[in-house]
Amino acid sequence: MEPVLNTLKEAIEYFSNPANCREYIVARRWPDGVTCPQCGSTNVTFLEKYNRWQCSARHDARQFTAKTGTIFEDSPIGMDKWLMAMWHVVNCKNGVSSYEVHRAIGISQKSAWFMDHRIRHALTLGTINKLSGQIEADETYIGGKARNMHSAKRARKITGTGGKDKTAVMGILERGGKVRTTVVGSRRKKELQAEVRKHVEAGAALYTDALLSYEGLEGDYAHKVVDHAVQYVDGRVHTNGLENFWSLLKRGISGTYISVEPFHLFRYLDEQTYRYNNRKMTDGERFSMAVSGIVGKRLTFDQLTGKTVTTTCVN
Ligand SMILES: [Zn+2]
Repeated sequence: MEPVLNTLKEAIEYFSNPANCREYIVARRWPDGVTCPQCGSTNVTFLEKYNRWQCSARHDARQFTAKTGTIFEDSPIGMDKWLMAMWHVVNCKNGVSSYEVHRAIGISQKSAWFMDHRIRHALTLGTINKLSGQIEADETYIGGKARNMHSAKRARKITGTGGKDKTAVMGILERGGKVRTTVVGSRRKKELQAEVRKHVEAGAALYTDALLSYEGLEGDYAHKVVDHAVQYVDGRVHTNGLENFWSLLKRGISGTYISVEPFHLFRYLDEQTYRYNNRKMTDGERFSMAVSGIVGKRLTFDQLTGKTVTTTCVN
């Protein structure tokens, strides 16, 4: 019987036993019994001595482990360390840097950086339902010199400009529910409206600021606008839910991650979005769900770095 894990200490103790690591993953990856990742057969035999299974069907790669086909595949790092890194990423409220993971778990910082990115990759949403009810949509800029984004943000709310060295991020939030975030190329009408239509059910109440890019959504949504040059809240018409999310995100990025290259920004968004959307869970539940997402999400170092070996792994 698997124990309920609620604290880092409990997790460290439990996962110090390799059999517990394996069983924890198996229970989430194959809740209905172990199946061969190659052919799907349930006719598999566990080889205790080698800590792997063998499929009884005749095909290549008949032997597999709990790591095969997951974000852990091909990694020489032990499962205990992977799971502990994962615990840190999903449960540290403002995020955790690869330096912290490197120190906490005793692996090189570069390994920790790579693991952290693979873990973030596992946190990405699979199939998703559209948001409904009361929806806030807003954009912000991340990066560049604007460490303290709040005043900069006010400025751009009025001027409508971000900086050249900043990346535009769009957020869509269902009040009392979940948030979706996307790195967008611009704040132009076509791009922002496509995101709204992709994520929000027609007929929902949509609250945005007075950005012209949102004009034209009235046909499909009950669109209400708050003009931030005048006021921040007009009854129910505000984007304060997203403002809170942005401040969490920026606290994480400026406090924890030394710098985030635009190329990797979406992974940090995925990480913060995952924690936010599952904020009502216990640490153990949030972790358990993350482990359930490890399958079919491999990410190689080349994919991760865009095949540039000179990339510095500093976050
Ligand atoms: Zn098979």
